[in-house]
Amino acid sequence: MTGIIGQYLNTLTRRAFAAYVVVFAAYFIAAKFGLYLYYSFNTSPALIWPPVGIALAAVLLLGYRMWIPIFVAQFFALLWQSGPSVLLISLIIAAGYALQAVVAAYILNRLGFSRALDKTRNMVLIVGAALLATILEPAIATLYQMQQGLLSVPPLLNLGRAWGAGIFSVLVLTPLILTWYPWQRTTYTTRQIGEILAAFGLLALNNIFLFWTNYPQYFGISVIFFLPAVLIWFALRLHTRWLTLAVFLTSVMGVMGTILAHPTAIPLNEQLLSDEIYIGLVAAIFYVFVSVVEERRLAYANMAENNTALQQALKKISRDDKAKTEFLAILAHELRNPLAPIVSALELMKIKMGEERRTDMLEPIEVASRHSYTVSRLLDDILDISRISREEFKLKKEVVSLQEVLRDSIETVDAFYKQRGHTLTVSMPKEQLDVLADPLRLEQIFVNILYNAGKYTNPGGHISLEVVYDPHKGVRVAVSDDGIGIAASKLEEIFEPFTRLSESRFEAGTGLGIGLSLTRKLATLHGAEVWAESDGEGKGSRFITVFPPSAIHKRAASLPTAAPAPTGATKKYSILIVDDNEDAAKSLCLLLQRGGHAVQIAHDGASGLKLMHQNPADVVLLDIGLPDMSGYDVAKLVRQKHGKEPLLVALTGYGQEEDKIKAREIGFNHHLTKPVGIADIQNILAY
Ligand code: ADP
Repeated sequence: MTGIIGQYLNTLTRRAFAAYVVVFAAYFIAAKFGLYLYYSFNTSPALIWPPVGIALAAVLLLGYRMWIPIFVAQFFALLWQSGPSVLLISLIIAAGYALQAVVAAYILNRLGFSRALDKTRNMVLIVGAALLATILEPAIATLYQMQQGLLSVPPLLNLGRAWGAGIFSVLVLTPLILTWYPWQRTTYTTRQIGEILAAFGLLALNNIFLFWTNYPQYFGISVIFFLPAVLIWFALRLHTRWLTLAVFLTSVMGVMGTILAHPTAIPLNEQLLSDEIYIGLVAAIFYVFVSVVEERRLAYANMAENNTALQQALKKISRDDKAKTEFLAILAHELRNPLAPIVSALELMKIKMGEERRTDMLEPIEVASRHSYTVSRLLDDILDISRISREEFKLKKEVVSLQEVLRDSIETVDAFYKQRGHTLTVSMPKEQLDVLADPLRLEQIFVNILYNAGKYTNPGGHISLEVVYDPHKGVRVAVSDDGIGIAASKLEEIFEPFTRLSESRFEAGTGLGIGLSLTRKLATLHGAEVWAESDGEGKGSRFITVFPPSAIHKRAASLPTAAPAPTGATKKYSILIVDDNEDAAKSLCLLLQRGGHAVQIAHDGASGLKLMHQNPADVVLLDIGLPDMSGYDVAKLVRQKHGKEPLLVALTGYGQEEDKIKAREIGFNHHLTKPVGIADIQNILAY
């Protein structure tokens, strides 16, 4: 036997051995103390049996094998007390306590118990264990004693005493050990230390009155009510650890006060029992209370932490987003700038070379410049989408004729339709329909839809645009095609950014899949709705845009619907071009000169102003990014000196909404985004 024990001890590490020794010593001292109280003060039936709480904490903290020191300590404590005559009963009682701690810990572990007693679930489990698991040993011992005829009191009373002692012991000691072991250094501020000392001082004072004197009443209120008040302070301000210590201190003072001072006439046993029930009840309630408070506090702290992390992430995202937006704007600008001279030069060459020689030589350059232009338009679309999402997008709304906007849109796609051999039929009501809208953006909506209809329809297709007005339902603009159609499941998906269907089927499909997303966003900003309809793949599609009745102002058909004929188309102007891109300025100059206009060129702001001073022009085409000053400043100075007369046209690589707004505010009459063709300038001059 000794050999086996020796061999076992050899396999133990130092740490494990220390654990055995500590648990043995703690349990043994607690058991001896319990027996001392039992025999010297006859504390039965209100038993005080501290080792039960220590045993459960030891198994929970150090593992099931702690049954060994528990068993041995319990056995020797009993044997030492009464000698070999109680050998068998000592063995049974020792085995009972060891088994009880192991079973309780096993059940707790199975239920997912963890030592974090600031979680309500764990606290409820430990209180449950105190109430239920402490019956095992008393049951075993009572059954044995009954069978042996050793009981001097009724079996239920015998069972009740030991069970009550177990409950009290677990409630007072197990949470204390679990929250204070292992020892963690916590730094407290002087204020916190002051608060802790004050709370314990008040608790000690309260306990002296409560347990060492004869339950005095103050102002008719029993001191018994003060204990919960002090414990509320502990629970709300000092957290779980200090509360478990407060409960322990109250129990020690309570039991000792009742035994030593024994201030009441009630028999000691009964008084002890009632004190224990009171302390146990208060402890159970406050344990659960403190855990609820702690859980909330931790959840708040967690939330605050997450919030900070989220806010930081958000800041980073918006910083990145801003950088990306700026990058895209610059990219669009850089793409557009070199295109300006190319487009002008191309137009000039077309005029000079004549019809027959022009196609094969100029076609590739035209295609390439068209592609670059499309790319820069796409970048603008992306910027628009990101701006709408960030709610930084402003519409410049005015009352515009819907029919006119639609006609402009048709004109924009006309060349593309012709190139693909599509036939377009248009049906619009006669009466003028006015909408409060940003004309440029409205056109963007319909150009997108019409362009898609042309793109996703085989060459030689049929496309129709139908406008129907109903005073109750508003205006419905339907663009139908007999093209590739859309599967029912994809009708909504295509409005998501970067969604493209049937990638390989149409080489004309050069988009990024953002057109419809932008279209819907722009329509929503106008209070309109856009959706797609299709009978399925291969069966054509229909894109419907509906403006609510409130958005429409009907005008009598008699009012002039057609724009007045451009009167200035043939008029000749004196024009000043201010652009630091010499090629762009020169090619545009040549084009305008061919149109019969008198043109001067300047490459910076100062020389532009000088030329304007010497020979004031009717029209100033002003680049915004000039080497010496910005085009905005030049425009301001021109307006100051020459008043409202000269027509100021901004030419920029930045085609963003805010650039246009800024230009308008400063006094520009028009804003053109590079590359600017002769047709764009003629359009402006015509009015
Ligand atoms: P994209 O730049 O690809 O044209 P859009 O957002 O304009 O992007 O359209 C998204 C997708 O919706 C297209 O890739 C295409 O698959 C589908 N689509 C759009 N219009 C039509 C149409 N008229 N007929 C069939 N499919 C269409």
